[in-house]
Amino acid sequence: MSLESVSSLPEMLEVWQETLNWQPTNDQQNQLQKLYELVIEANRYVNLTRITEASEFWEKHLWDSLRGVAPKQHFIDILNHGASVIDIGTGAGFPGLPLSIIFPNSQVTLLDSTRKKINFIDSVLNDLPLTNAKTMVGRVEEIGQESKHRENYDLAVIRAVGSVSACAEYSLPLVKKGGLAVIYRGSWTKEENQSLENAVHHLGGEIELIEEFTTPLSNSIRHCLYLRKVKNTPVSFPRPVGIPTQKPL
Ligand code: SAM
Repeated sequence: MSLESVSSLPEMLEVWQETLNWQPTNDQQNQLQKLYELVIEANRYVNLTRITEASEFWEKHLWDSLRGVAPKQHFIDILNHGASVIDIGTGAGFPGLPLSIIFPNSQVTLLDSTRKKINFIDSVLNDLPLTNAKTMVGRVEEIGQESKHRENYDLAVIRAVGSVSACAEYSLPLVKKGGLAVIYRGSWTKEENQSLENAVHHLGGEIELIEEFTTPLSNSIRHCLYLRKVKNTPVSFPRPVGIPTQKPL
């Protein structure tokens, strides 16, 4: 299959440099292109994404995934030096797969409750190949109570998995004290701010930064919420499966 290039167009390379302050190597560009081709091919059989056109895929999946960590030099440093990362509700692998391609020294765990999505990601890890990422099928409410995962990650990333308070309850229990959870959002309202503050307070975190930005091609509004884990999360969180969405903090 031959598809339009998703990552090596000269104008795209300029935007990587201007907005993220780095450019993928040729090998990484090839891996991003291959990831695109694999998603499009699998999308014929499994419902993975509505975003199939090359420039939209580049902006909304690749660029957006990386933008969440780009503004913080601290992230770049820890990701380049072996940070452990968990992507909660990764779906077709976003933001976790672009992070593991661009930061080969990081260790990325890709978690989703849907077996067929994880099967797809397993085939991607094999085909690219990527050796610094692994997958896990499960509900985050249960994984967050397992001692080998709880408070075990330097960084948790979560995009499009539910309300902001559910995302905080899913992510903060998995983060080590001193680590960060990054919640990727589209729009953001004052009411959500209140509900985030309340949730974070219960979970041993602090809101470090809420950043608004626009995407480089379609100028869509995005927000990233950076939550710092400052003390251990009480053992009652995350609550059992379904409760974080049914009874938001
Ligand atoms: N993060 C990806 C993205 O931004 O493209 C996928 C977002 S998709 C809308 C939400 C994903 O979260 C689905 O693949 C779903 O199976 C997964 N998910 C929802 N609730 C979950 C839970 N409690 N534990 C683990 N995965 C969950």
